[in-house]
Amino acid sequence: MLNSNDVEKMIRTGLKRMKAYTPVDPNDVLTGRAEVPPGETTKLDGNENPYGCSPRVQKALAKFQDYNRYPDPDQREVRKALAGYAGVSAESIVAGAGSDDLIDIILRLFIEPGERVINCPPTFGMYPFCTVIAGGEVLKVQRTADFSLDLAAIKKAVDAKTKAVFIASPNNPSGNQAGEAEIKELLSLGLMVVVDEAYIEFSGSSLTPLVPQYANLIVLRTLSKWAGIAGLRAGYGICPVNIVPYMMKIKQPYNINMAAYVGILESLADIDYLQKTVRALVNERDTLYRGLQQFKWLKPYPSQANFILCAVLGRSAKDIYLKLQKKGIFIRYFETPELKDYIRISAGRPQDTARVIAALRNM
Ligand SMILES: *Cc1c(COP(=O)(O)O)cnc(C)c1O
Repeated sequence: MLNSNDVEKMIRTGLKRMKAYTPVDPNDVLTGRAEVPPGETTKLDGNENPYGCSPRVQKALAKFQDYNRYPDPDQREVRKALAGYAGVSAESIVAGAGSDDLIDIILRLFIEPGERVINCPPTFGMYPFCTVIAGGEVLKVQRTADFSLDLAAIKKAVDAKTKAVFIASPNNPSGNQAGEAEIKELLSLGLMVVVDEAYIEFSGSSLTPLVPQYANLIVLRTLSKWAGIAGLRAGYGICPVNIVPYMMKIKQPYNINMAAYVGILESLADIDYLQKTVRALVNERDTLYRGLQQFKWLKPYPSQANFILCAVLGRSAKDIYLKLQKKGIFIRYFETPELKDYIRISAGRPQDTARVIAALRNM
């Protein structure tokens, strides 16, 4: 008979060794660590939309009757609506349970065991996470001191076993965008180039128009950040049309659940409302940036997204993070060597900015 140890030994070695992804904690868990009443907390750690989703999504979900039915595995209506929004053909769209799902699908489609994926940290943790789970190897090419891509180092790193490169633009957590010329250089290296535009609604210049011109470019988007439905899990890829049938074939058949389906359609039917909240958040990001600049011991980085990365000078960033947490103000701190002296603060409502700035003043 097998004992528990024997069974643990059967786990894939690469996965036994891999580091776990560090997600943001849910609000109630964070509130438990704070020393203020639950109603008085400020959540600025997940780059979420504090104004919530469109009221149309709320209403449609409350009225929805068909939860007993499976969603459309071909995602017909949703792909059409997303295509209209992104200005591309429905044949170039694959929708997923968040763009995280698309990252996973792309890596499972392209990466054979032992093949390599270039990752440019500090960046979003899902690229190395999904690479390892797909059986691939992560090739780290660190960003430069100002968080730009190190193109020379990327070019040097590419070898016969390298298949793909993932670039978040605007980048999380640094907030800066890659230039179109840089992405075009990457496109010439013979790799799949995946540009993750999770924050593009806060920035403006999308690379989506390049997709029909390049056989090896995929742009990822999400409704988690700008549309305020992170909890419903809704993302999509804009992909070369000949690759889409393969992605549709290997995805989980019902990857977009009914609630996400409704959430996508109703959000896209209420663009004007949502764009108002996006504009408010962009304003508030800039107010937050100026607020942080007032402190001699903080160095905020210019951001094209809905958050600000901030270097903490001559003090412990973790200590600032923990002190704010006690006061019920939740920001993001990363336990990695390269980011240990930084904090990331999401753009919130004006009262959220006021609270975080006032709290920092008292530290
Ligand atoms: C938040 C984030 C995502 C997550 O998207 P989901 O659609 O919620 O899975 C993807 N990429 C980056 C860079 C992000 O910061």
